[in-house]
Amino acid sequence: MTVYSQISDELKQIKSNGLYRKIPAIAKTANKFIEINGSVKLNCASNDYLGLSHNSQVKEASIKAIETYGNSSGSSRVVCGNYDLFDKLEQEMAKFKNCESCLVVNTGFMANLLIISTLACPDSIIFTDKLNHASIYDGIKLSGAKMLRYKHNDIDHLKILLKKYAEHSKKILVTDTLFSMDGDKAKLKELSDLKYKYNFLLMVDEAHATGIFGKGKGLVHEEGVERDIDINMGTFSKALGGFGAYVCADKTIIEYLVNKGRGLIFTTSLPPAVIGGNLKSLEIVSQQHEKYGKKLLDHCSIFKDLLTKENIDCGETESQIFPIVFKNNNSVMEAQRRLLKSGIYAALARRPSVPTPRLRISLRADFTKEDLVKIVRCLKQII
Ligand code: PMP
Repeated sequence: MTVYSQISDELKQIKSNGLYRKIPAIAKTANKFIEINGSVKLNCASNDYLGLSHNSQVKEASIKAIETYGNSSGSSRVVCGNYDLFDKLEQEMAKFKNCESCLVVNTGFMANLLIISTLACPDSIIFTDKLNHASIYDGIKLSGAKMLRYKHNDIDHLKILLKKYAEHSKKILVTDTLFSMDGDKAKLKELSDLKYKYNFLLMVDEAHATGIFGKGKGLVHEEGVERDIDINMGTFSKALGGFGAYVCADKTIIEYLVNKGRGLIFTTSLPPAVIGGNLKSLEIVSQQHEKYGKKLLDHCSIFKDLLTKENIDCGETESQIFPIVFKNNNSVMEAQRRLLKSGIYAALARRPSVPTPRLRISLRADFTKEDLVKIVRCLKQII
């Protein structure tokens, strides 16, 4: 059997299992509305939760950066791909997150690979929530460390694993703070307490929480555990409507990542347009929480009440992310099609992204009360 025939057999298998993925035909980049297959829909699929990707001040800052600094950084950060906007962004983010130091890297995916594979080695043990993001899994794989997955948010299960390895010296625990497919929160206070008892490095991924919770600073801030977190990473690509990622930690850890992080050393750094836009978004979320993050959170409670009134199950969500679970892949794909017909685009999530097939509805700050009512009405019709 040739490699080609193996690949096409596997693709046939993916199709027959209802797991086939296709890049949707989207004419222009998504905003509150999205033009898909030639018609306009309400966009409930994006992570641009605050609509900042189309904010006029963010766009202006991005254009200004390109005019001043050019289109590309020209090399890796450690060669000549650095410029003062990078330093400014890192200083502002460290201040915002109340951390000693910050490093900006190219994507959230890359950040997790870089941090975990640099800080862990085959001697390490990494404790990881079962529902952590794929990039965390891949970072662990790359590090060669022993991976111990605990049941989602199950502190009792985690304690059993921690007790078993209590004497081991190189331990890291990593968790999303807001789970991207279920919209629920990690138990950060309990994890912080366990850190002192079992002596592990505590790393969090604030990708979906930054810009929204804790007055925009994230769930670590909201839960009052800033001092307990060793590595606080997140992305500019979601609520901040930009691109790239940050790692906040103490100076020694950042210095180590700069010296040993292959995903920083061996790749061209982010272009000026991106860093200029990220800086403006950060300024907006830190100064205008009422208008953005708070507004989104208000939408979340209204939406949850509307769903409850209609008996629509949205799991354990505590955020802007609403999972609507279906029995199988065919039924979720059919539901997505029907929702699209009624003018709403929701993200489809199946294996390997999630264990159970679902529509992932994400709310945006620029939705109106009428939009929320419409989404619930349409959901009611397809369930
Ligand atoms: N962490 C989490 C929790 C995510 O959901 C994502 C993206 N979906 C990433 C990391 C990767 O971030 P990026 O899109 O910036 O690569």
